[in-house]
Amino acid sequence: MCGALYYITMSPFTPEYIKVRTVSEIREKIPGDKKAYFLAGGTDLMCYIREGLIDSEKSCLVDISKIDGLNGIEEETDRIVIGAMTTFREISENESIKKWCPGLALAARSIGTPQIANRATIGGNIGNASPSGDSIPSLITHNAVLKIAGSSGEREVDISGIFTGPKKTILANAEIITSVLIPKLKVKDGSALRGTFIKIGGRKSHIISKASVAVLAAVAGRDIGTVNVAFGAVGPVVINAESVSRILENNTVTPELMEKCAVEIRRIISPIDDFRSSAAYRREVLPLLFARAMDEITG
Ligand SMILES: Cc1cc2nc3c(=O)[nH]c(=O)nc-3n(C[C@H](O)[C@H](O)[C@H](O)COP(=O)(O)OP(=O)(O)OC[C@H]3O[C@@H](n4cnc5c(N)ncnc54)[C@H](O)[C@@H]3O)c2cc1C
Repeated sequence: MCGALYYITMSPFTPEYIKVRTVSEIREKIPGDKKAYFLAGGTDLMCYIREGLIDSEKSCLVDISKIDGLNGIEEETDRIVIGAMTTFREISENESIKKWCPGLALAARSIGTPQIANRATIGGNIGNASPSGDSIPSLITHNAVLKIAGSSGEREVDISGIFTGPKKTILANAEIITSVLIPKLKVKDGSALRGTFIKIGGRKSHIISKASVAVLAAVAGRDIGTVNVAFGAVGPVVINAESVSRILENNTVTPELMEKCAVEIRRIISPIDDFRSSAAYRREVLPLLFARAMDEITG
C-alpha cells in the first residue's frame, strides 16, 4: 500500500498535495477556490484518482494522517470514542468494541482484504458517504454522534443527519470528522445486548456490499426490548429503518411479526440497478438477510 500512496502523490492526475499536522492548519492551508479531499487511508481516494474522478485543477489532497489525536479507541463510562483515523483492523480487534458494539466489530471484520483493513479508516468510510459503506449501518443502530471540526469551531452531529445523497454530506469544505462517539446501550436485568451485521456481496467476504443489514437490540430469548435497525446499499443513503424498529420493539419474534417487517422493508427501501446488482435482487434478498439477522440475535 506504500506503493499506492506513492502512486497517489506522483500521478500526473493527482491534485495539489498538502500535509497538515493540526486541525487548525487545515483551514489555513486549503486554497479557498479548491475542493478539499482528505487523505486518510487513501483506499477510496486512490481509486478515484486512478479512475480520473477527481478534477486535479479544482481540488487538493489534504493528508490528515499525521494529525495527533485522531487515532485510537477509548472506553469512557457512558460511551466509546473512536478516533477518525482508526483503522478497521484496530476496530475489529478491540475488546470494548466487541463488548459494546458487536455489530460494528463484525462490520469492521468484513471490510476489504487484510491489506485494505490495515489502512481503511472509519472517518474515511463515513466521509466517503457511500450507501454501501459497511460501518455506517451499525453506527446508525448505535445512534452514533460525529465530532466535526472546521473553520467555525467544533460541532457534533447525529450520524443519521450527515448524508444527503450518494457521496454527499453536510460537511463544509474544510470540515473533518475528528471522532465517532458511541453511547453505551444499557439493557434491563434479564436481557442481553445483541448486535449483528450481515452483508451480501459478489463473494462471501472482502467485497463491497450489494445489500446489508445491521440490528442492535436488548433481547431476552425471542422477546425484543429496545431495538434499532439499519440497511445499507438499498437507497441513496444508508437507511435508518425506524418504522421496522417500531414494529419489533417490545414484541416477540414470530413468523407473523417477521412477515409484517418484510412488508415494511419492501416499502421503505429504494434500491437501484448498478454494476454490483439489480434492484429486483436487492428487494428480494434484503428481507431474507433481515430474517437471518433476527435469528442470530434471538438464537
Ligand atoms: C479493494 C477494496 C475493498 C474494499 N472493501 C470495502 C468493504 O468491504 N466495505 C466498505 O465499506 N468499503 C470498502 N472499500 C472502500 C474503502 O476501503 C472504505 O470506504 C474505507 O473506509 C475508506 O477509508 P480511507 O481511510 O481509505 O479513506 P480515504 O480514501 O482516505 O478517503 C475517502 C473519502 O473520505 C473523506 N475523508 C477521509 N477522512 C475523513 C475525515 N476524517 N473526515 C471527513 N472526511 C474524510 C475523503 O475526503 C474522501 O472523500 C474497499 C476499497 C477497496 C479498494
